[in-house]
Amino acid sequence: MSQLATVWSRYRSIPLVYRIGTAFVLGSLVGLAVGQPATQLQPLGDIFVQLLSMLIIPIIVFTLLMGARRLTPSKLGKIGGQVVGLYAITSALAVVVGLAVSNLINPGAGLELTEAEAGSAEAPDIVEVIMGIVPANPISAMAEGNILPVIFFVIVFGYALAVVQESDEVSEGVSRGVESIFDIMEAGAEAMFKIVWGVMEYGVVGVFALMASVFGQAGVDAILPFALLMATLAIAVTLHIAVVHLGGLVMLLSRQSPVDFLRGGRDALVTALSIRSSSGTLPVTMTNAEENFKIDESVYSFSLPLGATINMDGTALYQGVVAIFAANLVGVQLGLAEQLSVVAVAVLASIGAAGVPGTGLIMLTLVLTQLGLPLEVVGFVAGVDPILDRMRTMTNISGDLAVTTVVAKWNGAVDFASGVWGEGTPAATPADD
Ligand code: ASP
Repeated sequence: MSQLATVWSRYRSIPLVYRIGTAFVLGSLVGLAVGQPATQLQPLGDIFVQLLSMLIIPIIVFTLLMGARRLTPSKLGKIGGQVVGLYAITSALAVVVGLAVSNLINPGAGLELTEAEAGSAEAPDIVEVIMGIVPANPISAMAEGNILPVIFFVIVFGYALAVVQESDEVSEGVSRGVESIFDIMEAGAEAMFKIVWGVMEYGVVGVFALMASVFGQAGVDAILPFALLMATLAIAVTLHIAVVHLGGLVMLLSRQSPVDFLRGGRDALVTALSIRSSSGTLPVTMTNAEENFKIDESVYSFSLPLGATINMDGTALYQGVVAIFAANLVGVQLGLAEQLSVVAVAVLASIGAAGVPGTGLIMLTLVLTQLGLPLEVVGFVAGVDPILDRMRTMTNISGDLAVTTVVAKWNGAVDFASGVWGEGTPAATPADD
């Protein structure tokens, strides 16, 4: 028994991110080796995704209300403007990077569009997205897990609480009540961060199962023809993360070390890679921002849930890569004007896309329609999308965290002397708890 305990504590002393990383690689290899039967493991992976999803709404509500204590409307407006502005600029840059790398590598030349089915899913209308921000019923928005209307309602509610508390007309009891609500929210948020780490422990099993199932399903034969497309995307996202996120946002604007940034956000990045959902990763992203980056909740509780839905650098970049890929498949050359139109459409598409698996694929319909390219391309790449989506989602999360760091710095809402920025290991690696 005590031997078992020793093995367990040795295992736990390895940082979580390495254990999940190993599970990722082993799961992929097992999937490739075993093939179809490995898909039986899928439910074990689905439980992991479901456990994370369970935390999304509570963590948004708790942290936003906890942050509302310090938010005045002018501060919210200022932070909101900076966040949205940086999100838009980095997404546009991402499409440019995607187009540039894809123009250089030219994936798709020599491939033939066969066995294609037209993509059946529809991209959401941008007006609908904007209308959807105001919830007709906040409880049903929460029940359905709609992030934007939940953010909207909770900010309004949090602000009203702060106004009530400041007012001279309310009794002391009411004022104390508001104080208690804020305290309870803070307690709730702390508890959620603890649960995140518990869920991540299970993530080792979950990620193994997810990867085994993906590669068991796809198989080497299905993947190989798309190797160049995958490589193009991999190079482009690496370049974007390195230059725009690490170089521009972290080093230049935040004046911090990119290595610290990657160490602080590694749990979120590896989770994004594993479950390919920005929303699903949100609880981990927020935990990393709070515990490793030491960012104040008045910034991240707003910027991260918003980023999970509207800021998708990887998804936007992917549109650029596939635009060239699709043009090569049918043998047309895209001119400069056409490529510029891709930037506009791809940024809008990435804003409208929900942070769930596979939306980037659906968004392709917008870009392809804009360019007059065959929609069959969507069906053509659908088979390898579970692999491409991982790279997109990881890039999306990296962008959310990098912009959040800059905006936190601009607003004096981050402690660069502690957490991952100071010396020492990331506070949140729970192994040595
Ligand atoms: N899966 C991505 C995300 O959740 C969206 C996409 O499909 O590109 O961020």
